Amino acid sequence: MKRLYSNELKEHIGEEVLIQGFLFQKRIMGNINFLLIRDKFGIVQCVVKDKDQIEILKDVMDESVLEITGNCVEEKRSSIGVEIHNPKVNIISKVKYPLNIEINKPIINANIDTILDNRAISLRSPLIRSVFNIQAQMAKAFREFADKNGSKEIFIPTIVGSATEGGSELFEIKYYDKKAYLGQSGQLYKQMMVGVFERVYAISHSYRAEKFGTSRHTSEFIQYEFEMGFIKDYMDVINFGIDIIRYIKDSVEKENIEDLKIINKELPLIPKNIPIMKLKEAQDLIFEKENIDHRGEKDLSPEDEKLISKIIKDLYKSDLVVITHYPTSKRPFYTMPDPQNPEETLSFDFILRGLEILTGSQRIHEYEQLILAIEKKGLDPKNYEDYLEIFKYGMPHEGGFGMGFERLTQQFLSLSNIREATLFPRDVKRITP
Ligand code: ATP
Repeated sequence: MKRLYSNELKEHIGEEVLIQGFLFQKRIMGNINFLLIRDKFGIVQCVVKDKDQIEILKDVMDESVLEITGNCVEEKRSSIGVEIHNPKVNIISKVKYPLNIEINKPIINANIDTILDNRAISLRSPLIRSVFNIQAQMAKAFREFADKNGSKEIFIPTIVGSATEGGSELFEIKYYDKKAYLGQSGQLYKQMMVGVFERVYAISHSYRAEKFGTSRHTSEFIQYEFEMGFIKDYMDVINFGIDIIRYIKDSVEKENIEDLKIINKELPLIPKNIPIMKLKEAQDLIFEKENIDHRGEKDLSPEDEKLISKIIKDLYKSDLVVITHYPTSKRPFYTMPDPQNPEETLSFDFILRGLEILTGSQRIHEYEQLILAIEKKGLDPKNYEDYLEIFKYGMPHEGGFGMGFERLTQQFLSLSNIREATLFPRDVKRITP
């Protein structure tokens, strides 16, 4: 008999069927027992009355792997519309030890450290699993939208010979008889690839030696990297960023109906018109509405990000806001200064529900201007020779962004800690499992 998945059973009412899965829960009620079997699509209830079968199941513990044959019977109260009667159980793998963490309850009663210490098991809980089912759909949607809109997927090295932008957050590694580093972003590589494919994207690992265990930083994370050539200006990149986030949201809404029910959270509001404002305007608005004066600061603090999101939500019913024109002194060397005011850049951050999820800009595309910009930051153009080549031999107006893969999931699903949106998080204290 061929194995059927939980979502196929409705088509087989009245038939003898074979299912396989993990023992999610065993409910012993005396003469009648219920087995809940989890497969990759859902949970199937089996009703066990036969004494011999009850005996077989006596010492079988949660998460044992079972194969069951039985009658597929219509059951309107079940979420999958059926249940299995008269099951015959074959034990594929018997669990003899109780789990360290209870995963078959609607809420997991454990703190984040216990959940992460027992990651391989906690991930099996429907609640946590749904987060990563949605995350996978988000990545699929990102690829889909980028592909449909003329971009090419590229694969970027994460071992690098020198620091992209300088800074102390680099992980140094021993590389044969030399020093090397783990890449902080795919920035320089994706720009190089604009000269080849014009429009490129990657879903790529980044490493930063973040020293503080904040709820929005980990040491290893993934970025949705995107870069496009032949732009009119930075607004083309902003619009692409907004469109792709809206596409990802629509895709999750359509494809993850069950997961969203399990998680019981609302996806963010991404209306037709997204507010876009300069950093200075955002600071003025925070001052005007909240009487907090951060005017003149060179960046938004985490508190400012929360405040501006709240204000924008009240005014425009949008969970997303785009902040532009960060000071030249605060942005990386490759960021294009605003020709109207070179103290400011054609850069932007996307703030979603009070947290930065994306950073991007129009880039400097002219060789001489780029060398001057590198020197101005106190960096040595010699360390960027390979990268500079592409500008020496012709680059169009171009721009792009890096968007936090885990942060986007975190903010889509209103998770309080980025670690809840990371399968196996690494931070200053954690490198296992
Ligand atoms: P922040 O100011 O929040 O520390 P950043 O400005 O250093 O972030 P960028 O270098 O602009 O971050 O990185 C691009 C995106 O990658 C960010 O918008 C964010 O979504 C994500 N990101 C950056 N650092 C981390 C990290 N340590 N852990 C997880 N995601 C990160």
